[in-house]
Amino acid sequence: AVGVHGVHKRYGAQRVLDGVELAVRPGEVTVILGPSGSGKSTLLRVINHLEKPEVGYVSVNGELIGVRRHGELLKELSERVILGQRSRIGFVFQNFNLFPHLTALDNVAAAPVATGKLSKPEARELARELLVRVGLADKVGAYPRQLSGGQQQRVAIARALALRPGVILFDEPTSALDPELVGEVLAVIKDLATSGTTLIIVTHEIGFAREVADQVVFLDEGRIVEQGPPTELLDHPKHERTRDFLSKVL
Ligand code: ATP
Ligand code: MG
Repeated sequence: AVGVHGVHKRYGAQRVLDGVELAVRPGEVTVILGPSGSGKSTLLRVINHLEKPEVGYVSVNGELIGVRRHGELLKELSERVILGQRSRIGFVFQNFNLFPHLTALDNVAAAPVATGKLSKPEARELARELLVRVGLADKVGAYPRQLSGGQQQRVAIARALALRPGVILFDEPTSALDPELVGEVLAVIKDLATSGTTLIIVTHEIGFAREVADQVVFLDEGRIVEQGPPTELLDHPKHERTRDFLSKVL
């Protein structure tokens, strides 16, 4: 489960997140929609503690991210604890961010070894299983430059899974892909969704959101304007801003 509680984040004078409240139940899929600059990436970065909110806090599976409660005072945790927390949250980026000098297998096996969770042989065994799961059994030895964008993104998803995260965050996972490669990546994400992984996905793929989301959130100017099940938010949006946005992306 993920809880975002009264989060405010600004860059200089600009309010980027303005009191965001969000609850994601275990096993649920949340899709975040919103125009460019509305704060979607910043929200994911706050959840993963890549950014620190000025006000508010985030919890993942009951654990406060980046802060601990001490009476009313929220104290910062050590970098080591933060790294441990971050390793329990998967993050899949728009541009894959694979290690170019490592094979698909070693890209997936690296983190469980580096964090001391698995021995090298165990990590490689797990990596092989995960690459099979994302449909890349024949690409374990390939380097990123030898893979298509869709294949690279599937390696990135396998890499996120290797740490057995409590939640996986996706930031526009298909927007850097050629149109014909989008489907294979969405199919893998859909497989995770139906197998009960908790997912938070920023995407403009409305059809996909309708199919897999338990809840859809519309963010505008750092605020959640509207949220609800896809049949409500996508088919019967209540707010003018939501209607206007959907008319542009549909
Ligand atoms: P997009 O759909 O284009 O990816 P987004 O909804 O993900 O947009 P964010 O990347 O969260 O938007 O950015 C929200 C606002 O915060 C933007 O106006 C952006 O310019 C600003 N911003 C983001 N990161 C920083 C930063 N590190 N320093 C200063 N301003 C930033
Ligand atoms: Mg973004």
